Amino acid sequence: MSQTPRSIGILGGTFDPIHYGHLRPALELLETLDLAEVRFIPCRIPAHRGTPQVTAEQRLALVQTAIAGQPGFVADDRELRREGTSYMVDTLTSLRDEFGQQTLLYLIVGADAFRELSTWRRWQELTTLAHIVVMQRPGAPQALPMTLEEWAAPRVASDAAILRTRPAGCILFQPVTQLDISATQIRALLARGQSPRYLLPDTTLACIHDHGLYRSPLVENSFPS
Ligand code: ATP
Repeated sequence: MSQTPRSIGILGGTFDPIHYGHLRPALELLETLDLAEVRFIPCRIPAHRGTPQVTAEQRLALVQTAIAGQPGFVADDRELRREGTSYMVDTLTSLRDEFGQQTLLYLIVGADAFRELSTWRRWQELTTLAHIVVMQRPGAPQALPMTLEEWAAPRVASDAAILRTRPAGCILFQPVTQLDISATQIRALLARGQSPRYLLPDTTLACIHDHGLYRSPLVENSFPS
């Protein structure tokens, strides 16, 4: 009798800080795609934005507070253990090595991040390592850039069931509850001394206050050109 292969969701991000716009869609995908787990993987050094004010260890700690007690949610520190800029292709390679060729890997990205996919390192290899699940995000335009559209079109699956037939290679556009929340908005509120309560878990907010994070005036480091 053949065993059903394991399905693992992978949600990478800066998580600067983690919020309900990450958490609620992740829970919906855990349940609707019947995943064994969703791994939250904070990057050490983001490839597409400036260096966060808050260290990678602190962002990981915030993730841990946010997901504590939720079965199936896992905080994964593999990008913190790797030197240099955090590239998703390296992360997926390491997950593939750890979980084997049969495991179904689902890389979860917001629609805004997916639109930028062709700027990611070795982006065309991503679907050799995992499926990609694109979550709708408020404000993200529907139309894709031409290069991405052409590459994505033959890989798009109309139904989640198609993804279950292979370990990687498909792209699924999956509706999730639309929460117009961003980490940028939360950092801006905190820097102004206003409350971001109800945009993220209270335990995470308590951790932010306990460690005096995001209090300094909003200086967003720009990405070095
Ligand atoms: P920032 O405002 O600092 O750019 P962010 O809120 O977009 O941060 P990230 O950590 O960069 O958060 O996001 C990680 C992943 O989660 C990305 O794929 C992003 O598209 C997705 N994501 C973030 N917020 C939402 C949201 N509200 N709805 C759907 N997807 C989201």
